Amino acid sequence: MGKVLSREEIKERRKYFLTQAEKKTKIQKGDRRVYGSRMCAICGTQLSRMISTTGGGIATKHHYHCYFSDIFFVNVCMDSRSCYSNISKLEVKGGHY
Ligand SMILES: [Zn+2]
Repeated sequence: MGKVLSREEIKERRKYFLTQAEKKTKIQKGDRRVYGSRMCAICGTQLSRMISTTGGGIATKHHYHCYFSDIFFVNVCMDSRSCYSNISKLEVKGGHY
């Protein structure tokens, strides 16, 4: 139940994830190299979904997979405008994640 991030905070977090990650992988929409469902660490929007027939996953949005370690990695929307617009939608709904 965090507070809604300001534009500045979104920018800072994206910058942190994208510049500090040890490895960064660009995942295109439709890419099947993803496992299970992923969400954007900033705005919470869904980035991939499970394919029930194969047990694998498929990207539903362009995003970055930022790898920090085997136990810590985050996924973020490739387009920062996507985070801004999703966050502002949350704001309208009352600001709860
Ligand atoms: Zn996002």
